[in-house]
Amino acid sequence: MQLFQQQKLYLYNSLSGKKEPFKPINEGYVGMYVCGPTVYSNVHLGNVRTFMSFDVIFRYLKHLGYKVRYVRNITDAGHLENDADAGEDKITKKARLEQIEPMEIVQRYTVDFHNILNTFNFLPPSIEPTATGHIIEQIELIKNIIDNGFAYVVNGSVYFDVHKFNKTHDYGKLSKRKLEDLIHNTRELDGQSDKKNPQDFALWKKAEPQHIMRWPSPWSDGFPGWHLECTAMSTKYLGDHFDIHGGGMDLKFPHHECEIAQNEAAKGQTPVNYWMHANMLELNGQRMSKTTGNIINPGELLSGNNKIMSKAYSPSVIRFFMMQSSYRSVLDLTDSGLLGSEKGFYRLMDAFNTLESLKPSTRSSINIADWKQACYNAMNDDFNTPILIANLFEAVKYINQVKEGSETLTSEDIVLLQETIHTFIFDILGLENVSKTESGTDKLSAAVGVLIKLRQEARANKDFAMSDKIRDELAEAGIQLKDGKDGTSFSVN
Ligand code: AMP
Ligand code: ZN
Repeated sequence: MQLFQQQKLYLYNSLSGKKEPFKPINEGYVGMYVCGPTVYSNVHLGNVRTFMSFDVIFRYLKHLGYKVRYVRNITDAGHLENDADAGEDKITKKARLEQIEPMEIVQRYTVDFHNILNTFNFLPPSIEPTATGHIIEQIELIKNIIDNGFAYVVNGSVYFDVHKFNKTHDYGKLSKRKLEDLIHNTRELDGQSDKKNPQDFALWKKAEPQHIMRWPSPWSDGFPGWHLECTAMSTKYLGDHFDIHGGGMDLKFPHHECEIAQNEAAKGQTPVNYWMHANMLELNGQRMSKTTGNIINPGELLSGNNKIMSKAYSPSVIRFFMMQSSYRSVLDLTDSGLLGSEKGFYRLMDAFNTLESLKPSTRSSINIADWKQACYNAMNDDFNTPILIANLFEAVKYINQVKEGSETLTSEDIVLLQETIHTFIFDILGLENVSKTESGTDKLSAAVGVLIKLRQEARANKDFAMSDKIRDELAEAGIQLKDGKDGTSFSVN
């Protein structure tokens, strides 16, 4: 274990609102739980960003030598429309619309989720549990919460008594909300009349006759509340008190706030030492979201088959783009941003790939050990990937200076530089080595670029037959040309 670097790791804890030194509960071990996707539709790039943030955190903790148990669940039941306590289950609704089994929906979108994460070179979590596989654990938790006096049963459903809980505990401590303000701001919605108070939330819902996904319980044939599954699965695999719980910023309230309340009510202790929240990916200045349809799917960005971007981007370029912002900042997905990242990424790769051909000297004029420490300092400062990348570009500068002869490095320092860049780019940031000259996509871009130019010349010469022929034959080969105000771009089907 690289102890000296580990001791300096700080992470931002949403619970305290501060960066704190990281101290695991058991020396050398880390338990981390991250809320996974609700598998009722294709993952969008916003989802990818959140999971990517935690993939890098997982990778870095492992690199530091921790034994990490990383649990990321699949939500395959209990998540109702509008994240509410009434309405249809998101998965059942999709199954009804498509007239197939809910579990076919779950299977289809779980496979899609895994395929996308593989494309972006994610490491698999240690355990990937499902909500439907943990109904018994959820029922046990509800029994505990009822026994401890923090839940009540009405017409076969069970609700968490937020008002009672707040008398002895602090409901709102994570999201920094006060119950009085919530009371003031909650509207009474139809279908919530079983609750004593609108702020209460469902632990178990009695299933309406048409609700297909249902299980027997002491209270009714029904299904668990959405917040409960994460309490059940996190504590089952990580213990009642574990190190890190993560998810997207939008889950802080009510989902994570309710998780804390459930744990404290059931087990008498707060579950998590460090709450970490990844910020949102935006498109056109607005949060990417399935509900509003303001989304771009990974496949559309990878193929270039979309109306927003000028070209296709490779998975590593998209990953690099996301890493150029801190996981705690909002990030706007733009064509200009991606173009800039693409340029930067290839510059970094090309420099890395020329390291081997550097001529060593008898002494170094650059302090590579200090530079290496600066890379660690960046990651130890709450996983600050943009600062890390700035340091990697500093290394690109060194490589070019050594090539030109204005600086020198010994062979040991060249190896150290090479090993450190390799570690950070591939092992920690999870990027893949594609140099611009090797990449098939770029060879294709170059070839189509030549044809686009020939077509422009044909048009300028009023040879429209030739220009149409180029366009149509490319289309037959599955390459669509798009004429825009900034010139012609292409996409591959
Ligand atoms: P869902 O499948 O909707 O439950 O979302 C899965 C994960 O993606 C959750 O952690 C969300 O917080 C996260 N998420 C959803 N939309 C975005 C977005 N626009 N940017 C970043 N993360 C998001
Ligand atoms: Zn969750």
